[in-house]
Amino acid sequence: MCSCETVFMHSILMLDLASQHRKIQQELSAAMQEVIESNAFVKGSQISDFQHNLEKFLGVRNVIPVGNGTDALQIALMALGLQPGDEVILPSFTFVSTAEVVALLHLTPVFVDVRRDTCSISIESIERAITPRTRAIIPVHLFGQNADMEAILKVAQAHNIYVVEDACQSIAAEYTFANGEKTQSGCMGAVGCTSFFPSKNLGAFGDGGAIFTNDDTLAQTMRMIANHGSCTLYRHEFVGVNSRLDTLQAAVLNVKLRYLPEYTLARQTIANQYDSAFFGNPHIVIPARNSQSAHVFHQYTIQVKNGRRNELQTHLAQRGIPTRVYYPQPLHAQRAYSQFPAENCSVSEELCETVLSLPIHPELSEEQVQWIVQNVREILD
Ligand SMILES: *Cc1c(COP(=O)(O)O)cnc(C)c1O
Repeated sequence: MCSCETVFMHSILMLDLASQHRKIQQELSAAMQEVIESNAFVKGSQISDFQHNLEKFLGVRNVIPVGNGTDALQIALMALGLQPGDEVILPSFTFVSTAEVVALLHLTPVFVDVRRDTCSISIESIERAITPRTRAIIPVHLFGQNADMEAILKVAQAHNIYVVEDACQSIAAEYTFANGEKTQSGCMGAVGCTSFFPSKNLGAFGDGGAIFTNDDTLAQTMRMIANHGSCTLYRHEFVGVNSRLDTLQAAVLNVKLRYLPEYTLARQTIANQYDSAFFGNPHIVIPARNSQSAHVFHQYTIQVKNGRRNELQTHLAQRGIPTRVYYPQPLHAQRAYSQFPAENCSVSEELCETVLSLPIHPELSEEQVQWIVQNVREILD
């Protein structure tokens, strides 16, 4: 092994926020200093600046900044006026938040399966799960690619069901409808939710989230729910929560939003390099692209065939290449959620055994990508 390889080995990270922030250190420090000097740590002007900047970026009528992505989903569901026992369809192959908020509100999560190729919610599985009690569907735009929104919106409309998009991993992923109309991820359903958790494609310096909607009435209700069910101080119209994006996070996000297109492009470039390196490899399934959606590659997730996922992961770890399994267990099989109804989720179960996410972030160098590719091929070729 030559010495240059040793250097890459020790510097490959799943995510390199230190390098990302070093490049824009001065802008970030200035933005934060301004908040510190203003002392407006809550409800500062940077929050409405960020709200408007993001509304413009997404082309959506309303952005409601909140405390985190999980709260965004919870507030969205609270605003829809659902009743205890109402059923909410969601994929079993996702992060826990999607189901957690449903259960917390005494609604019934109904787990459905995902497509084997894109790992996103299966329209056939949704159709099988619909009952007279179904009130909402939460498609998750997993790994940075929109689910089959055109078909989902059509089914939802036919059954008078709300669509709440979990766009926590997919900010900036454009979707193109059959009529040519283009929309940003999270702006297609009744409500869309995103997260600014530091590791997301647009990450803050702590927790943060936002809700998107083109419905002004719903927007007003959600703003009030996020603010103790209130729009006038000490007047409470309904039971709400306290979920705010704080001013320091908004200041950081205002800076980072300007770089989001650049970060997205860098992720897509790396994904293309991985695609061409692994295409045709008999042991690897590269992430399928949905022809109607851009993919912003929150994760680059391969499926490793022939039971060799763990062997690959161990080999890469020995070469200093971190990888992650998103996700190791489907939600319907988790102890906390086993009492809820589930469709056949055999694809979700299978994916939990085969998926492996490789490092993908804007700071990953060409040499590092080559080193990763070389080491994957070394045992899987
Ligand atoms: C990150 C994430 C969430 C939750 O966001 P937080 O800000 O961590 O609460 C919800 N759903 C999905 C799919 C996520 O990836």
